[in-house]
Amino acid sequence: MPPAAAGLDNRSGICYNHVKAGSRCRNRRETGETMTDIAKFRENLLLWYKENGRPLPWRKDPTPYKILVSELMLQQTRADTVIPYFIRFTGEIPDIGALAAADDGRLLKLWQGLGYYGRALRLRKAAQRIAAEFREEIPSSLSGLLSLPGVGPYTAGAVASIAFGLPVPAVDGNVLRIAARLTASREDIAGPKAKKQAEELIGLLLSPDSPGDFNQALMDLGALVCLPGSSPACELCPVGFACEAYRLGIASGIPVRSRKKARGTESRTVLVVSAEGYYALTKRKETGLLAGLWEFPNLAGQLTKEQCRDYLLSLGLTFGQIKPLGTAKHVFSHLEWEMTGYLAAADKAAGIPGWVWASAEEIRLRYSVPSAFKSYLNMIL
Ligand code: SF4
Repeated sequence: MPPAAAGLDNRSGICYNHVKAGSRCRNRRETGETMTDIAKFRENLLLWYKENGRPLPWRKDPTPYKILVSELMLQQTRADTVIPYFIRFTGEIPDIGALAAADDGRLLKLWQGLGYYGRALRLRKAAQRIAAEFREEIPSSLSGLLSLPGVGPYTAGAVASIAFGLPVPAVDGNVLRIAARLTASREDIAGPKAKKQAEELIGLLLSPDSPGDFNQALMDLGALVCLPGSSPACELCPVGFACEAYRLGIASGIPVRSRKKARGTESRTVLVVSAEGYYALTKRKETGLLAGLWEFPNLAGQLTKEQCRDYLLSLGLTFGQIKPLGTAKHVFSHLEWEMTGYLAAADKAAGIPGWVWASAEEIRLRYSVPSAFKSYLNMIL
């Protein structure tokens, strides 16, 4: 339980120092404000969640497996996007044993379009460790969860609290924002200090009786009410009574964020090479961006038709015309690809090291081609 002196003030929001230092906080002593009511914060939030929480599929029957899969999928991805992937994934791979045994093709195909594919591979690695070291039972301790590949403090906190009822915070981007606003913090939200402060604050506010619901309530509050940028709906907020940024009228200016590094740009030339009803694909490296996925052969830079022709001839391919397929763009979190595509109809599906030839149907069903190539993929599917 949090210390009795630490908490909220029903007239002026949360003072982070006060939560940390209790009655030693000078701000509050000088203004003579009284401390209330962590209980009210919890009660309001949990009641709001009961009435307004999102009916997400992993909440229906929150087994540890479903929570683990959903939390990996939710890393850097919105819940709306995750829903169909989660339903398909857990329908086809229903437990840790099946996940540990899933091959790359199946796993990545089920993840295709969700992005950040390294998560799928780490999830399988986690399942393999759970199978080998925990008899296929997801560990119920925080330290056990943190020992799994792909599971950081947020995911461990979410699984521990939602699936096992442990009273630990789960601070993701939404909850970071809420914590910063509750305390009107001017710390850089991307820095370690803001994260540490948020974890301490949420740890103090957390309901010891319903930690899973409390954490999910905060996630939903961030997704539905305490929205990013200039649009928090403070007048609808169940914990507005405790929010310092709301009291000061500065909620839309918080959190404070340091300037992000500009996103880099890369030009690539994509070759859709067809022959005898098949299309050429190559596999990406096993590490780095889009690791292990399939793609159309592509080259760095913006090549002309003649340069593409020379390249394909150098591989020993003979073909008729090369037709331009137009340009496409794909934005990753740190990088933007500007792509120029060409279609080359080769005479024969010749054996070229690193290439496979697949029909459109095979590409649809078996090969995981990332959405970066969506524009060109749509042309053949
Ligand atoms: Fe504070 Fe408004 Fe966010 Fe509620 S919605 S936590 S009142 S900033």
